Amino acid sequence: MNSGKLIVITGPSGVGKGTLVEHLLWSHPELYLSISVTTRSPRPHEEDGTNYYFVNHEKFHQMIEEDTFLEWAEYAGNYYGTPKSSIKSRLNQGENVLLEIEVIGARKIKKSFPDALTVFILPPSLDELEKRLKTRGTELPEVILCRLEKAKVEIAASDEFDYRIVNDEFEITIENLERIICH
Ligand code: 5GP
Repeated sequence: MNSGKLIVITGPSGVGKGTLVEHLLWSHPELYLSISVTTRSPRPHEEDGTNYYFVNHEKFHQMIEEDTFLEWAEYAGNYYGTPKSSIKSRLNQGENVLLEIEVIGARKIKKSFPDALTVFILPPSLDELEKRLKTRGTELPEVILCRLEKAKVEIAASDEFDYRIVNDEFEITIENLERIICH
């Protein structure tokens, strides 16, 4: 049996990765989305085990010690990690696995899985990214500023990845993403 594809969607916070991934899962139910572990507090409507596994810092560090993660990174004051459990076995069984992670983690994955398909989602502009983060309304102003600063560094690294797509028109972005993933 052929092994499945590991597909990494990365890019700055607020660029729309989550919505794109949600749509991909809806139109391709055969894709498996890895659920990350985070120390960030849940946003309204986020559920433990659905959006993330929410843990405190102590538990996260214990999980690092226990070698739980395929990769992990600190991002804007919180920790995020991809649990190893089930990813390798799913790939070995031929399933395609999707990760939605920030740039440092995506870089680590590309190192340990050179065959991983990495896609960087770009905003049409930094002004538009700021507008999207503000409209989302899930972060405090100082957190938005921190995420925008991060975004500049992340965007500067975007050509390290296999594909870059500008998320301007949602439908066009989805078409481009599907073409890359399904070819
Ligand atoms: P948010 O707090 O907005 O949910 O996520 C912040 C950033 O962390 C986003 O860019 C998101 O893609 C990324 N992220 C989510 N899960 C993981 C993970 O397991 N590992 C890494 N490295 N980044 C993650």
